[in-house]
Amino acid sequence: MTETILILGGTREAAELAARIVIDRPDARIVTSLAGRTKEPSPLSGEVRIGGFGGAEGLAGWLSENEVSALIDATHPFAKSISANAVKAADISGVPLYRLARPAWVKQAGDRWIEVANLEAASDAIPARAKVFLALGSQHIAAFEKRDDVHFVVRMIDQPEQKLDLPNHTLVLGRPGDSAAVETILFLSHAITHIVCRNSGGEAGYAKIEASRKMNLPVIMIARPASSPAGYATIDDLLAALP
Ligand code: NAP
Repeated sequence: MTETILILGGTREAAELAARIVIDRPDARIVTSLAGRTKEPSPLSGEVRIGGFGGAEGLAGWLSENEVSALIDATHPFAKSISANAVKAADISGVPLYRLARPAWVKQAGDRWIEVANLEAASDAIPARAKVFLALGSQHIAAFEKRDDVHFVVRMIDQPEQKLDLPNHTLVLGRPGDSAAVETILFLSHAITHIVCRNSGGEAGYAKIEASRKMNLPVIMIARPASSPAGYATIDDLLAALP
């Protein structure tokens, strides 16, 4: 029987992983699951399914119905619910779980990080009248609504369905820049004085950190949740562990 591997995705690493496994295991059914937050997700190797499972029980049901042999959690380090659901679903179904957990970014010489524990603390750490590049999704910006003295520049992949509740803001549509030069142009053109972001780790969002270092801009860096599960740091390590 053909083996089925389910990858919980939504990250660049998950896409790379799917591409690698599809080549390594041409006879296997490789399915990547996306939450459905992005209207036009980048193309993925293998099959794609979109939408929530209906909690841990729903995911466990999907694993059993599809006779999944391995579940890989390659979701974003701040996506807490789906990772917790993966642990429970693996428990319920008996399907082995592998987690791809990209390491957090580490402060380099020249970085001006103000390290904070959560969104609330990040909002409080912004100095009065700053011009802030807010590198967060729309579901995370409520904590900044109270800062009517600050101008926020928010970048989103898709036009949000509702107007953002931030008092003063500029919306920039697009994906994260893939080089420090691209991010520098954005920061200069909006006269940014501070960056707010989460310590997501990985390559996809690192250009803004490099640009901030080069421009000597302070970065208000939100730490990962304490519950963020450990896992394999690289795709190679994870692939080597798969049976
Ligand atoms: P979350 O809070 O952990 O998940 C909320 C709910 O969305 C989950 O309970 C699940 O619904 C559904 N879901 C999440 N990831 C899914 C997946 N890969 N496949 C199917 N359903 C999924 O996650 P989030 O922070 O909203 O992030 C959603 C997705 O965006 C994740 O896949 C993540 O990898 C990606 N992403 C997140 C961030 C971020 O900043 N959090 C950044 C980049 C990409 P059910 O309970 O109904 O199954």
